[in-house]
Amino acid sequence: MLKNALNILFLMISTLGYAQPNPQSIELAKTIAIADVHMHTYQQNPRSAQWWREMMDANGVIWGGAVGDYREDVQAELEGRYIPAVGQPEFFKVFFKDGSSGLINPENETFRDLYIRSEKLLKEGKIKGFGEFHTDNHSSGPPRIRRSIRTDNPAMRKFYEIANRYGGFIQIHAEFDGDFEKDILSLSADYPNTTTILSHCLSTKNVDPIARILGKQKNIVCEISSLGAVHVNRLNIPRSPHAFDSAGLYSNWLTFMEAYPDQVLLGSDPCCGIDASYSEIIDELRASVLPYLSPPTMEKIANKNAIRIFSLKSY
Ligand SMILES: [Zn+2]
Repeated sequence: MLKNALNILFLMISTLGYAQPNPQSIELAKTIAIADVHMHTYQQNPRSAQWWREMMDANGVIWGGAVGDYREDVQAELEGRYIPAVGQPEFFKVFFKDGSSGLINPENETFRDLYIRSEKLLKEGKIKGFGEFHTDNHSSGPPRIRRSIRTDNPAMRKFYEIANRYGGFIQIHAEFDGDFEKDILSLSADYPNTTTILSHCLSTKNVDPIARILGKQKNIVCEISSLGAVHVNRLNIPRSPHAFDSAGLYSNWLTFMEAYPDQVLLGSDPCCGIDASYSEIIDELRASVLPYLSPPTMEKIANKNAIRIFSLKSY
């Protein structure tokens, strides 16, 4: 009885507790080249392309993007350092105009234009994929942008089909449920050349569902933006952080990242008016995440996975 109770207590401490930094990683974590795969460069109220390059340069972020908005001026400034994606403004436009039913309709006019435009841009090598598509954010973000649709739907299948022809990616923001797991696994199996990036690793404290999904399909990966204390504090989110805070990385997340080193990526998500905190967000990744990983895992998660997935040039 006592032994059982002790076992349970130990399990609770080891799953809820903090990981220990890896002594071999502490120095490397401060300087390692970062690929930021959730770097929004919005059209509205834009920071200049030069501002973005300077922020990246100041923080050792070599590559960035992989979510909307696609901006040609940012592409010209960053050249091969940019990971260009289209579709986020269109996804919002369809939702605000036609609601959730518009988002699943491949005949929607905005989507039909986007299918044609994206195919052309992919063919010309100007973009690498799509995102961020919010298919299920029913409990996060301002109420007016919340929605929940099936991720496997006819409109989404068209995006997967297009991405699949070019070895492209689709970045999806979703929350876990049984339907989502079924949907993302069938899309990923049907379109093996498309890489799915799950934003914020599904925004959860519980790593089990995301680990199970990554374990089943190699072409599904996830990125860890918004999982720390900076987003919670800056955005006044009424909950504790999911994966890390100023005291370090939670041990269940370390176990997860070491178990799937080829399928986890870094992201900043300077959304929602917090782009001025960009340096603080990257500092948090360097202080509260990277030092806990083994050196080979750190290299993969910081940049090697992104270089492989997006065919990036090494600098
Ligand atoms: Zn985002």
